[in-house]
Amino acid sequence: MRHGSHHRYRRRITAGLVVLVVSLGTNVFAQSVPVAIHDVTVIDGISTEPLENATVIFHRGIITAVGPSLDIDIPEGSSTVDGNGQYLIPGLWDTHAHLTYWGEDALDSLIQAGVTSIRELGGDVDLVEKWKGEVEAGSRVGPNMIWSGPYLEGIDAPDEYRLKVADESEARQAVNDLLDRGIDFIKIQAVISAELVAVLVDEAQKRGSFVVGHVPRGLSAAEASSLGLRSIEHMGPYLRLSEEDLQATIETFLKNDTWLSPALFSMVAPILARGEDPSSNDVVQRSNAIVLKMHEAGVPLLVGANFAYRNWPQRPGSGLHGEMHSLVDAGLSPMDVLILSTSRAAEFNGMSGRSGAIEVGLAADLVLLEEDPLADIRNTRKIAAVFLNGREIIRD
Ligand SMILES: [Zn+2]
Repeated sequence: MRHGSHHRYRRRITAGLVVLVVSLGTNVFAQSVPVAIHDVTVIDGISTEPLENATVIFHRGIITAVGPSLDIDIPEGSSTVDGNGQYLIPGLWDTHAHLTYWGEDALDSLIQAGVTSIRELGGDVDLVEKWKGEVEAGSRVGPNMIWSGPYLEGIDAPDEYRLKVADESEARQAVNDLLDRGIDFIKIQAVISAELVAVLVDEAQKRGSFVVGHVPRGLSAAEASSLGLRSIEHMGPYLRLSEEDLQATIETFLKNDTWLSPALFSMVAPILARGEDPSSNDVVQRSNAIVLKMHEAGVPLLVGANFAYRNWPQRPGSGLHGEMHSLVDAGLSPMDVLILSTSRAAEFNGMSGRSGAIEVGLAADLVLLEEDPLADIRNTRKIAAVFLNGREIIRD
């Protein structure tokens, strides 16, 4: 048991058998009895208004009750957490993760920061498969994962973490090989032809999957949307568009249900690291204006840190909080950002039936905050407790 955690735990939880689950990295406390967080303000990930003086109960990893404290009976023998003055949000999603560049401690950093689910967007297929398997088997504590395995690209692409295809038959084979292996979707980078993207989309859709990624070189974002990319990463493709072309791109995205994955913080973090002010950076300001315009037009956004190499300043866990902050800087409300980072992310990733909201029947992936994230989005960093599948994470 780590220094200090026992004391804090005994203070927080008033009853119930506690089981310490030892894993490869971060450890957790599991309760054999229902856990009730009472008199807390619930921001459930879907509603646009918080529910004050609420009680949330979970048992065996699943949320069993949510409502005003006056209406909820706490079962006898429950462990109780007094949430008075605190805020409960769903576990967060980072939809732009590259675990293998960073290394396995990314899994701990994510969970400690309240990121309980990720969209893994490209890396070493063997390592991600191993870590994902360990998380699912319960031998390692880590976020739930939707993953792409390697980047699928043309033969001119660099080699690192790539599966490269030369023609249509190789492209179809690659999609089937990856899906047979258990990946959830296909990720492309820029080095692939429009013809092969169309083949990947067709083959993925036959299998009930989809393709996401960068805009292939030589194409516009609208063209990539029309080829069938479900999400498009990064802001580069929009920066030089005229207002007219931007408007046409927005209409194309809405028609095709293409999601925008702006990765603003991976632009902002290096500026902050140089000691400069992102609010006086033209690219950041233009990107912010485009993101706000797209959000207001109804284009759905994905919130992701785009962490990868260890020398990049956006880090696993804290990077997601940075992206949430960047989106508020761009003009989104903290409530909209919280909804995008929880229930909407789960929806994009086909996980709404599992998590992403504080609702009866969903997994108890929860983050208890010491201060109001609606008053200041930076308060998502002031974490009192993280629960993953109803088990309390032992935080450093
Ligand atoms: Zn990326």
